[in-house]
This record gives sequence, C-alpha cells and structure tokens, in this order.
Amino acid sequence: MVRTQGVHAIRIPTPWLVGDVNVYVLQDGETKTLVDTGPLTEEAEKALTQGLAEIGIRIEDLDQVVLTHFHVDHSGLLEEIVKRSGAKVYAHPHTERLIRKDAVVEAERKAFYLDLYRSVGLSAEEARATYEQIADYHDFMGRGHVDHKLREGDRIPGHEAWEVIYTPGHSMDHISLYRAEDRVMLLGDHLIKHVSSNAFVEPPVRAGDPRPQTLVLYREALKKVHALDCQIGYAGHGEPVTEHRALIEKRLRDQERRAARIVEKVQSGHTTAVELCRALFPYHQDQMPLVVSETLGHLDWLVAEGVLAVETTASGVWQYRVVKEPAFCG
Ligand SMILES: [Zn+2]
Repeated sequence: MVRTQGVHAIRIPTPWLVGDVNVYVLQDGETKTLVDTGPLTEEAEKALTQGLAEIGIRIEDLDQVVLTHFHVDHSGLLEEIVKRSGAKVYAHPHTERLIRKDAVVEAERKAFYLDLYRSVGLSAEEARATYEQIADYHDFMGRGHVDHKLREGDRIPGHEAWEVIYTPGHSMDHISLYRAEDRVMLLGDHLIKHVSSNAFVEPPVRAGDPRPQTLVLYREALKKVHALDCQIGYAGHGEPVTEHRALIEKRLRDQERRAARIVEKVQSGHTTAVELCRALFPYHQDQMPLVVSETLGHLDWLVAEGVLAVETTASGVWQYRVVKEPAFCG
C-alpha cells in the first residue's frame, strides 16, 4: 500500500470495530523510528514483529517512537516497546498525562465524563454504562511516558525533513507529520479515507478550564491541512489519502449538513443532546460515547456560531433552543 520512499507501513489488528491500525517506520536516515504502536495485545505485537522483520528490524532495534495521539490503538504497546528497545518517546505535550495511567488523572477523567453524560441527558445508570465503554479501552494499554515533546513546526530528530503539524480535534494531543520535499503526510486519525474521523469530547487539559470545543478545533485543523500541498497522506486506518483537499471539503460539508439537521431537530422539539442522539443515530445506541461526541461537537459549534443557545435545567441537563438561522445551507 505504501509507494513512498522512506516510509514503511505495518498493518496491525485491533479487537475493535475500527479494524486494523496502520503504524509506520521512518526509514530516511540511520535513526529507526516507529510512528504509533498498535494496542497491547499478543496479535498486535506479533504483527508488529513481523512487519518490522520485513525490513530487517527487531523491536529491540527501535531508537524512537513518535505517537500521533494517545488513543489506545496507537499507543497501547508503547511500554512493551520501550522496555525492550530503550526507544525514546516523542509526542505532543498533552499526551504524557493521558498515557501514564495516573490515578489522579483517571479519577478526573471519570468525574468529567460521568458529569458530562448526565448533562447531555442520560440517567445515572446510562452515564455509568457509557463511561465503562471508554474505561474498558484501558486494558489495552501499558503505562506509557513521553521523553520529548513535539510542537507545531518541530522536526523529528534523525528525520529532519519531517515537520510536526498540530492537528487537534480527533483528540486534543493529535499531531500529523509533513514532509514538504515530496509532499507526504502521516495523518494519524486526523483524516481517514473511508470514514469520517470523530472529534471526541475530552476534558480540558487543566482541570477547571472550559471544555475544549473539539469539533470547532477539528474544523480549523482540517482547513490548515487543506492549505498544505500534499500528494499522499498515510492514515492511521485504511488506505492512503490521495485527494486530500476534496476529502477535507467533503468532511466539512458533511458536518455543515449534520449541523443543519440538528437545527431542524431542535426546532421540532428534540432539545437535549440525548434526544438528538436518539433521533440522529437510532441504530448506533450501543456506541454511546461516539454518538454523544458527534452530537455534542455539533451542538458546541452551533452555540459558538450563535445559532443555538443553551441553558441548564433545574435537573442539570443542557437544553438547546434555536436563536438564529444557520448561515450555511443544508
Ligand atoms: Zn484515534
């Protein structure tokens, strides 16, 4: 699937609906760098070992691991890889606290999600069950850490042609890598060809800060990548992206369409996020964390645009009403 000099792709199975995850070895230069790891499963470790063997590398030989973001399918094997290779870990500054399995951070996240799921209109029991779906992912990651922080514009040590592009939205710590000389990108989960990438609702990086508007940030990041000249982008899932501008335009348009539908639904009396989730995604109620993120992301955006207003009811549930016609057409 990879037709690019200096980039070797390895497909790694995951136990989830998302299917295989793609990780990449950067081969320009002497430094052996793995971008993303796969989850902490025996099958994933086997696939990684085999994929590395195709280019004559063992896990023990790796010098560096770069993480595009903290999600468990991208970072789960990190501890194991570092233990065996001593590789240095590079990631965005926000990644560290999310992968080290720190009890305080985990308690903060649990409280955030339980509170959020009540505010969107789920019962206490439904909120707990929805949180458990996210918490279950933790079994597929080791205790990771970050040695060196990567920010917008940084270069990957040993592979100076690769530049870091900060692309928040899918997660707040998400980075992509761009090699301008031959217009190649490693996209992580920022842009996936066969499926739209979810802008997951996340707690603020610092407790007490406002909740990040992940879909709003995601749209800005999509526009930033749209401006880059890119002939091929290798994604964390699925086939490479060759027409990145057309795909980004489609994603932006689809979001606008969904926002217009949400405005209609609010007008017709679906005034809480959960009522909207049930109206918009009747067949995906077993994937509540995703569905809530998708819906709430659009609601946040519509509030930011001044199309919707939100109030908190006496029972603590967010309630929406239309105050202005949306400027974009459905
Ligand atoms: Zn992800």
